[in-house]
Amino acid sequence: MPKVGMVSLGCPKNLVDSEVMLGILAQHGLEITPRPDEAEVIIVNTCAFIEPAKQESINTILEMAQYKKFGAARKLVVAGCLVERYRREIREQIPEVDYVIGTNELEGVLAACTENSPAPPPEPPAEPYLYHEFTPRVLSTPAYSAYLKIAEGCDHPCSFCVIPQMRGAFRSRRFASVIREAENLARQGVREITIVGQDTTSYGEDLGLRDGLPALLRELGKIPDLAWVRFLYCYPNRVTDALIAAVAETPKVAKYFDIPLQHASAGVLKLMKRGSTGRQFLRLLDKIRAAIPEVALRTSFIVGFPGETEEDFKALLDFVAAAEFDHLGVFLYSNEENSRSFKLPNPVAAGTARRRQKQLMALQQRISRRKLREMVGKSLPVLVEGPAEETDLLYQGRSERQAPGIDGCILINDIEGPAPQPGDFRWATITQTGDYDLVARLEARVFARRQLPTGPLAAGALVQIQPAATISTT
Ligand code: SF4
Repeated sequence: MPKVGMVSLGCPKNLVDSEVMLGILAQHGLEITPRPDEAEVIIVNTCAFIEPAKQESINTILEMAQYKKFGAARKLVVAGCLVERYRREIREQIPEVDYVIGTNELEGVLAACTENSPAPPPEPPAEPYLYHEFTPRVLSTPAYSAYLKIAEGCDHPCSFCVIPQMRGAFRSRRFASVIREAENLARQGVREITIVGQDTTSYGEDLGLRDGLPALLRELGKIPDLAWVRFLYCYPNRVTDALIAAVAETPKVAKYFDIPLQHASAGVLKLMKRGSTGRQFLRLLDKIRAAIPEVALRTSFIVGFPGETEEDFKALLDFVAAAEFDHLGVFLYSNEENSRSFKLPNPVAAGTARRRQKQLMALQQRISRRKLREMVGKSLPVLVEGPAEETDLLYQGRSERQAPGIDGCILINDIEGPAPQPGDFRWATITQTGDYDLVARLEARVFARRQLPTGPLAAGALVQIQPAATISTT
């Protein structure tokens, strides 16, 4: 059996696909290695959402191809969204690639890694793929935290987005399947679950469920060993009163909403085929804050969309100043062939788009700095993640206001009581703040104790190969 290495690019939804592929391989006895030089098969699970992501995918494929010359690698497998968009081009133009796996062909990974000349999967694959509670998964996240994908695909018509073409129509996992998987993860030592899907707020609609996500959150909130459950990627007009109530009333659900709004000018939103207006968004945010005063709000915007005028951009700036988000990302519009917006007139010059991105981020930096300063002196539960990335002299953690990987962190420079272990939930008092991060003193008080003994995956090491240069995308 060959040793296999995996590079997972792109968003957490893609990471779950990588973990499913690793699970299938591990179940069949293949050894997984984080070292590219010793992997006999290297899989690159790609992202192709926007131009920089495509470029990163191609660079990583070429970087990993070098191990066929100078390492142990005999086979290079490319999986994921880039395959969905450019299957033929990859086969024709990157001869080092031995096998491609689309997003609906994850189970073909075993044949791709073990057979000498595996038969190519049928085209197009017969069934859209969606994993379930019995699908093996090898977690690549730290042992205390896991993503949980509850749905795949998207039915929204957003004009800039090619995800529906890559991931297919929206489809939900069965309610019981999601709960069983969360229980299994908790049994293995996972204490924080982050729910993902292209649009988590539509969960269950295709199954005939009403208020599927609120019901799911309430049920997940009953799993004893989980401390936090959060969900990402809300579609704004699907944030219902029932969802807000479920977040407010379920103690284990993080008081956190991630609502990518994309823009605030009615004209641009119309061209984006998302509808709504900045004023309606403000009403929604007010409603959430009225129900959950301590809530943290995250959003993301696209600047440089075709036809975005200075007036539209000013409307976006005014909106951001009024909305006062806790976390905000700004992406440059990427003109993707096959997207509905590809042929729209009035493109925005790249320099103008970059200037708008900088201006918006500078505004948010001021808002973030001020909001974080208001937290000094407050005591709040913190998930300790381990030594800080920059220095072993500090610990690093997150509050429920910070999702993994995207929202900054809490640096711990003072500890009361025993030294913490990664995955511990303790109280901490905020002592200093920066632009996006906080500094805290860890208290001896424990926030959430573990009820169950930890299982075999509790020691879960990072199994991913880390490529030389990566960027982050949503
Ligand atoms: S909701 Fe998100 S994934 Fe779906 S089409 Fe819009 S941007 Fe794309």
